[in-house]
Amino acid sequence: MKVLGAFGSKTQDSQLSSYLLDEHTVIDAGNLIQSLGDDFLKLENILITHAHFDHILDLPTAIDTFYSRLKKSINIFGTQEVIEIIQENIFNDKVWPDFSKIPLIDGSDSTLTFHEIKYFKEYTIGNFIIEPYPNFHTFGSSGFIINNKMVFTSDTFLCYHTWDFLNKNKNLTQLVIEVSFPSEFKRLAVMSKHLTPILLKSELESLQRDDVKIYVNHIKYEYFDKIIKELKAVGLYDKVTILDDNSVIDI
Ligand SMILES: [Zn+2]
Ligand SMILES: [Zn+2]
Repeated sequence: MKVLGAFGSKTQDSQLSSYLLDEHTVIDAGNLIQSLGDDFLKLENILITHAHFDHILDLPTAIDTFYSRLKKSINIFGTQEVIEIIQENIFNDKVWPDFSKIPLIDGSDSTLTFHEIKYFKEYTIGNFIIEPYPNFHTFGSSGFIINNKMVFTSDTFLCYHTWDFLNKNKNLTQLVIEVSFPSEFKRLAVMSKHLTPILLKSELESLQRDDVKIYVNHIKYEYFDKIIKELKAVGLYDKVTILDDNSVIDI
């Protein structure tokens, strides 16, 4: 997995959520254009964890930018709720053209093809086995189990299913989980369904294993130093790896 965007805010030094599984398949579309360039044309599958802007930002513009050179329909995967939000609010012929109705330039297929995925079902998507599960963030949002090895929570608050999966299935050895806000913003974190260092610490008490490699992502970049300091204060900094743009995880 190559991290194209590891953060919860876009600045000159931080890019939004995008996780390339291989050249054909990516999770979330927060940073596809600047990171991939023409390699975007190799993409076939885009999995969307939820429709928050930081996870879909480059989707409309990338389709438009590369339209004339696209040879195959781009498959967009998400829960019914997520697909509906994207269709009704972005590709609605008002904010942006409905590319699921616009044919590729050679007329062979539609430019975008939406695919609904359901929680707790396994799907073969490109070269990967993906199982979506409810991650407690927005209505219809998903975490993904990838290749029965990694649990990728995406944005999340309380993590019942995440701990359940990891405690029951010892094949799962990698966890990518978020910390968005410093602990003093607990109220905001609870309202917006995100984690702080203290909330992550208390959530991790439900993990009954110590052999899971834990990666932290989605830090709101303006609080980066504060969050690192707090992760140290709660004793987590040495137990997790902080993801950065361009980090690579072997999955
Ligand atoms: Zn979100
Ligand atoms: Zn987000």
